[in-house]
Amino acid sequence: MARAAARYFGLIPAAGTGSRFGGELPKQYLPLNGRALISYAIDALADETPLTRVYVIHAKDDRRCAQVLGSGRRVAALACGGASRAESVKNALAALRGELRDDDWVLVHDAVRPCLPGEALRRLMTEVADDPTGGLLAVPVADTLKRADADGRIEATVPRDGLWQAQTPQMFRFGVLWDAYKAHRALESTDEAQAVERLGLQPKLVRGALANIKVTYPDDLALAAAILGEGHALAPVPRRHVRDAAQPTRGAG
Ligand code: C5P
Repeated sequence: MARAAARYFGLIPAAGTGSRFGGELPKQYLPLNGRALISYAIDALADETPLTRVYVIHAKDDRRCAQVLGSGRRVAALACGGASRAESVKNALAALRGELRDDDWVLVHDAVRPCLPGEALRRLMTEVADDPTGGLLAVPVADTLKRADADGRIEATVPRDGLWQAQTPQMFRFGVLWDAYKAHRALESTDEAQAVERLGLQPKLVRGALANIKVTYPDDLALAAAILGEGHALAPVPRRHVRDAAQPTRGAG
């Protein structure tokens, strides 16, 4: 019997409280150009034709999520948010075990990244499509990095050679993700790639976009509005920031 073609699913963890951001409203529901911040992440994945469905993971007592999902689209809610991002993702994978096949692709994307360019998403899907491990969007570190001591003084300058900043979406086969997350230590991972790395695998780094920022602090919301307003979300990473991981960067940042 012929093997069924792999399908693509989106998974958006949106069960955070936004403690670093502050305020009453979890940051994924803050207004951005008149719409809830999370709606941009949902649209970025839901409007991309190969995706069968996009699942949004929300906290059990969250009544706002249903309002932003809309109707008639390939978007569904999972009320299984956990105490951390990793726990939210693990709970969702457990809930989807009966529905997704091991070779289905899952694209995990932060609810609070509203400026994902379609071009970067398509690049990820193309470059990872035949990869046995999976991969993620990321950008090479451009600035010089400093490690601080407890007094806020520089303890060391950290070589940035070969360093990349991880973004989302992160794209893995369901079977690989479930193997990674059913292991107890996966809950210490801050992203899917790290959980997969703990299996001894090496996810592929795919060039992301500087515009694909994560809204973490209040200033980031204004920056996201500016990016969306200026249409910069469509711009790729400038070539000067794009260096292969094997080609070390030079000079002071
Ligand atoms: O807090 P941070 O910005 O790192 O959150 C990244 C993403 O993980 C957000 O979309 C947030 O809603 C989600 N998250 C979650 N469950 C948690 C904590 C964060 O789904 N317990």
